[in-house]
Amino acid sequence: MNLNLINGIGVKYIELLNKLNINCIEDLLTYYPYRYNIYRLGNLIDDGSVINVKAVVESIPRVGYIRRNLNKLDFRCLIDEKLVNVIIFNRAFLKDKITVSREIVVVGKYDSKRNSLIANDILFDKINGTKVEAVYHLVNGLTNKQINNFMRRALGYSSYVNDDIPSYLVDKYNFMDKSNALKNIHIPSSFELLKQAKLRLIYEEFFMFLFKINYLKYKYERNSEGIKRDVDFEKVREFISKLGFELTRDQVSAVNDVYNDLTSGKRMNRLILGDVGSGKTIVSIIGLFINYLSGMQGAMMAPTEILACQHYEQVNKLFSVYGIKVGLLVGSLKKREKAKVIEQLKNGELDVVVGTHALLNEEVVFANLGLVITDEQHRFGVNQRGNLQNKGHLCDVLYMSATPIPRTYALTIYGDMDTTMIKTKPSGRKEIITLVKKEKELREVLSKCLECIKDGHQIYVVAPLIEGDEESELNDVYLLKEKFEMAFQNKVSVGILHGKMKNKEKDQIMEDYKEGKIKILISTTVIEVGIDVKNSTMMIIFNAERFGLATLHQLRGRVGRNDLQSYCYLICNKDIERLKVMESSNDGFYISEKDFEMRGQGDLFGVRQSGDMAFKIGDIRRDYRIMMQAKEDVVKFIEMNVNDNFDKYKIYQNIVKFMSFVD
Ligand code: ADP
Ligand code: MG
Repeated sequence: MNLNLINGIGVKYIELLNKLNINCIEDLLTYYPYRYNIYRLGNLIDDGSVINVKAVVESIPRVGYIRRNLNKLDFRCLIDEKLVNVIIFNRAFLKDKITVSREIVVVGKYDSKRNSLIANDILFDKINGTKVEAVYHLVNGLTNKQINNFMRRALGYSSYVNDDIPSYLVDKYNFMDKSNALKNIHIPSSFELLKQAKLRLIYEEFFMFLFKINYLKYKYERNSEGIKRDVDFEKVREFISKLGFELTRDQVSAVNDVYNDLTSGKRMNRLILGDVGSGKTIVSIIGLFINYLSGMQGAMMAPTEILACQHYEQVNKLFSVYGIKVGLLVGSLKKREKAKVIEQLKNGELDVVVGTHALLNEEVVFANLGLVITDEQHRFGVNQRGNLQNKGHLCDVLYMSATPIPRTYALTIYGDMDTTMIKTKPSGRKEIITLVKKEKELREVLSKCLECIKDGHQIYVVAPLIEGDEESELNDVYLLKEKFEMAFQNKVSVGILHGKMKNKEKDQIMEDYKEGKIKILISTTVIEVGIDVKNSTMMIIFNAERFGLATLHQLRGRVGRNDLQSYCYLICNKDIERLKVMESSNDGFYISEKDFEMRGQGDLFGVRQSGDMAFKIGDIRRDYRIMMQAKEDVVKFIEMNVNDNFDKYKIYQNIVKFMSFVD
C-alpha cells in the first residue's frame, strides 16, 4: 500500500521515510520502535527528579525572546490545586495550542521555592495513569512525534497487513491478532498487551524466516537430482599440485566434499564455513575447475566489486594456463563491455564468469551453467538463495561464508545446506599480535608504523566515520589522513577509501595500494571482507569500541596473509575489557561466542541491516527460546503438509512472491 494513502504525508516526508527504507505502509507498520518513553502521572514534588503532572492552563502564555535561537514560553497552570508558573524553552510554536482551561501534561522539574516548573515537554493527549510513547530511529528532518503521527494514521490500515502465522498456531499459543499486535507495538495500551504484541511479532518473524529455510531444505530433499559429472580426480590433483602451496588438511577434505558432491548425481547445496584467511576461495576455484572439466560453465558471485575483481584476477591467473576463458561482470563496466560478456555467456564462449549482483540481472543467460558459487553468503539474503542457480538446469551450488557464528545458530540459519568447516589456517602463518591501546599511547603506535614502512610493508587504518562534524569525538577518515600525513611529514603516501567514493576512484586507490604506491590506506569498514594484499602487516583500528568483536576480527583478517609477523592495534578510550578478548584469541568462532555473550546479535555480522540476519524485531540471542520453538513448529508444519498442501496457507502464498525456488 502506497505511503501517500496516509493523510497529510506529502512528498517531502515520503522521501525522508524512504531514507529509512520505508517504502510502503507495510514497511512503516513494521518499522518497530527501539524503546519506549514512559510517562507516569505523578504529583507535584520537588526532589530534583523529572515529574509528569496533569495541569490545567490558567493564563495565555507570554512569549519571550532571550537571544537568537532561544525563546521562552511562560504561563500559569493549576496543578494539584496549586497555581504554578510553567516555563518551557524553545517551544514558542506551541503558543496557540496552550489555551486557557485546556488540560495538558507537563513533563519537567519542579522548584518549590520559586513555585516554578521548568518543562522539557508538554503533552496534549489525555493520559490516565501512564502513557507509553514509542521511540524510533530517525533521520535528519524527521522527528519522533512525526513518525508517531504517521504511524497512528497508518495503523488504520493494519488489518491489511499479512498475518503469516498459520491459524492453528495462533490458536495454540493464543496469540493476539496481527492488527492488534501492530497497534500495541506502536501505541501500547498497557504493558501486558505490549508484551503479548512483541511476543507474537517476534515469533512470526522467526517463523517466516525458518519457514523459508526449511522449505528450501524440503524442496532440495524431495528433488535432489543433480548433474552427474565424470571427472578424473587425477586431473584435479594435478591442478592442485601447481598451486605453489600445499592445501591444509581442512582444505583437502573440503575439496573432497566438493568433488564428491559434483560427481554424485545429487545436487550440491553446500556451505563452506571458515574463518577469514582460512583459504576458502581456492577450494571454490577447484570446484570451478572440476565443473569446467565436465564441460559446463561456472559462475562466482561476490558482494562487492572490489572482491569480485580480486577473485577474477586470481581465477584468471590460475585458469588461463589451461585455456579456460574467464569473464568479469560488474555494475561499473561500460555498457558495451557488459553486453559482450553477456553475449559470450549465452553462446558458451566463456567458461567461467566472476561478478557481483550484476550476474542476477535477467539479461544474463548461460549456455549451460553447472555450478554457482556465492562468496560471503551472509551478505545476501535468504530470498536471494536460488536466484543465480535458476539460470542453469539442476545447477550445483556452493556458498562460502567467513561469518564466525556460534554453532547452534549456524545450524538454524544455514539449516538448509550441507556444511563444511575449514578450521585450520594455512601453515607458516603467524598469529596476528593484537594490542589494545589508549589514544594517548598513539605515539608508540606511530613509531611501530614507521618501522613497518621502513621494512617495506603496508598498513591499513580503519575509522568509524567518513567525515565527522566539529562536535564529534570520533576519528574520521579525512581527519586521520591529516594526522598521518603530519606524523610522517608527508614523506609517506597515504590514501583513503570509503563508500561514498565513485567506483572508479575506489578501484584506482585499491590498485595503487596493491602495487605499493600507497603505503597507508585509511578507510571505513567498506572493505572489511575478503581483501587480500599480502604485503600488509599492520592494521590500526580507531575508536575500536564502536565495533563488535566479530567485525574487528573480520577487519584484522586483512593482515597476516603471509609468513611475516603482523600486528593489529585497537585504539580506544573505553570498553577495554571487551576489546581485550581480541588480544587473547585469533579464533573467530570463539570471538563470536564472546561477542554474542556481551552484545547480542546486534553486530554479529558487522553488517547490520543486510543479508540473512536482518531481523526487525527478533533478536536471536535474547529470543533464543522463541526461535527454537518456532523452528520446531516450522518443521512440524512442513511435515504435516508434505504432499504439497501448502497452498491453503497464507504464509505460503505470501512467501512464494518473494522467493525464487529451485524447482
Ligand atoms: P578466505 O577464507 O578468507 O576467503 P582466502 O581464500 O582469501 O581466504 O585466502 C587467503 C590467502 O591465503 C590467499 O592469499 C590465498 O592465496 C592463501 N592461501 C590459501 N590457501 C593456502 C594454503 N594452503 N597455503 C598457503 N596459502 C594459502
Ligand atoms: Mg574470502
